[in-house]
Amino acid sequence: MTDTKKTALPEAPASVTYTITSKDGFNALFTIREMSGLALLKKMPAIEEKLLGLEYVPQVKKAWGEKKPVVYVEGKLCPKCEGKLKKIISKKDSKEYWSCENGKYDFQTKTKSGCDFFTSPDQYKAKEETSDQTDFGTPDEDY
Ligand SMILES: [Zn+2]
Repeated sequence: MTDTKKTALPEAPASVTYTITSKDGFNALFTIREMSGLALLKKMPAIEEKLLGLEYVPQVKKAWGEKKPVVYVEGKLCPKCEGKLKKIISKKDSKEYWSCENGKYDFQTKTKSGCDFFTSPDQYKAKEETSDQTDFGTPDEDY
């Protein structure tokens, strides 16, 4: 019997964590561990190819000014479809905008789909104040 076959690596000294997004938009952290950085480096291309094959996309942190994972606006829902609102910091003016989580943008075809609700916090609040009959209520958990 060989000890080298052990796969349980409780204290694997080398690890790499991929920050990825599934094709349905779920953000995930995927960590692989190895006994050495070199072994890890050998493994990585195969892992990356596999992830791409499963349509996971890397979260590119520098682009789009999004340094963090998706941040949702607490207690506010999209007035069109009641989806959650995502906070977006504009690269242009560094201002905060809210966009509906159900809005999708296809970078390949450059087309939008789903919900196109997009606003700034100020616009949203102004709208809330002017239209009193719009009762957003408490968010339902019908996700
Ligand atoms: Zn919406």
